[in-house]
Amino acid sequence: MNVYDNALRQLETAAKVMDLHPDTLLKLSSPERVVMASLPVKMDDGSLRMFQAYRVQYNSARGPYKGGIRFHPQVSLDEVKALSFWMAIKCATVDIPMGGGKGGVILDPKALSENEIERLSRAWIRAFRPVIGPEKDIPAPDVYTTPQIMAWMADEFSKLEGKPSLGVVTGKPVEFGGSLGRGTSTAQGGFYVLQAACQQLGLASSGLKMAVQGFGNAGATMASLLFAAGHKVVAVADSQSIVFNEAGLNIPELAIYKEKNRSVKNFPGTKEISFSEFFALDLDVLVPAALENQITADNADSIKAKILLELANGPTTPEADDILFKNKVVLIPDVLANAGGVTVSYFEWVQNLSNYYWSAEEVDQKLRDKMIPAWEAVWDAGQKYSVNLRTAAFVTALARIDLASRARN
Ligand code: GLU
Repeated sequence: MNVYDNALRQLETAAKVMDLHPDTLLKLSSPERVVMASLPVKMDDGSLRMFQAYRVQYNSARGPYKGGIRFHPQVSLDEVKALSFWMAIKCATVDIPMGGGKGGVILDPKALSENEIERLSRAWIRAFRPVIGPEKDIPAPDVYTTPQIMAWMADEFSKLEGKPSLGVVTGKPVEFGGSLGRGTSTAQGGFYVLQAACQQLGLASSGLKMAVQGFGNAGATMASLLFAAGHKVVAVADSQSIVFNEAGLNIPELAIYKEKNRSVKNFPGTKEISFSEFFALDLDVLVPAALENQITADNADSIKAKILLELANGPTTPEADDILFKNKVVLIPDVLANAGGVTVSYFEWVQNLSNYYWSAEEVDQKLRDKMIPAWEAVWDAGQKYSVNLRTAAFVTALARIDLASRARN
């Protein structure tokens, strides 16, 4: 289950359906540029350690490369390639004028101190400085990278440039060039799409049974939004445990509990369930918001949810996609469902470049104005070609990338 192979299979499937121009298919079959670096970091005990780091600049047909940096022990070059390709598709799906890129560092962030993370983040910027910048490639947060890390990165880049250069990364703290609404935007965008999907499918706008896998930024914010809308979040999974209560979890209390205990494990009033039980729950909506390859040929058939909203990147394998489509589970793909994050990142970058900042209401309205038409375009493409919504999103995005790509030839 190599994620880059999965990504290329998704590309080929969509290319066939829409008869994509062979030149564009060829250009999208490999990244434009791959940069690797070893980051020397002085540890708190005085020793030196080297960390393997990547930046993949996949495609820039529609604009500067855009995409997050992941700090995780399972980062690999193939994973970063897949994620950067998905960023190119994602930006085109919501029609923002950016290309696709992604970065990563192989490390266990829980094993490093805050000072070590700061030195590593600054080292990342020094290593990749020649290839990034507000007009070239704009990183952002991803798994285990935070607004604070983005602040260190923007600061390091500005020092090297000898001038404030806030547009080099997005997802910064609001006090230091960040945009209002960026912190919650991944979940908020997914929430708008889910609302539209429920309407389309004739499902209620509250009281639905849901489960969320992952309780990081995207998953926890999504669970809060669902709870606030009156849905019943019956199960939440994090990397330590999966907690379940048929009557629904009190999400604000769970968030406080997780903050204190570092995990949802043993949250009062819940019972622990297994990974396979989680995916077989009787649900209306299932929200994977963790890592790749969680829904596979092994568990896809057990999924009873009517809607699967992919807040994570790449949680479903191509084999599982086919099973879910056959079982009439409406899968809203990552490149649409989690595109709210990069959309508000784009807004942040626009605000940085113009040095004029928008109200929270303005950001939220503009986010909605991107997500809803994107949902409609993807739904329509699904109907037109009789394909699942992933292929529909790819077809929508590839048509846009193709026009830009060939206009430049
Ligand atoms: N890491 C997020 C994603 O996968 C956000 C990227 C960005 O804001 O550039 O979409």
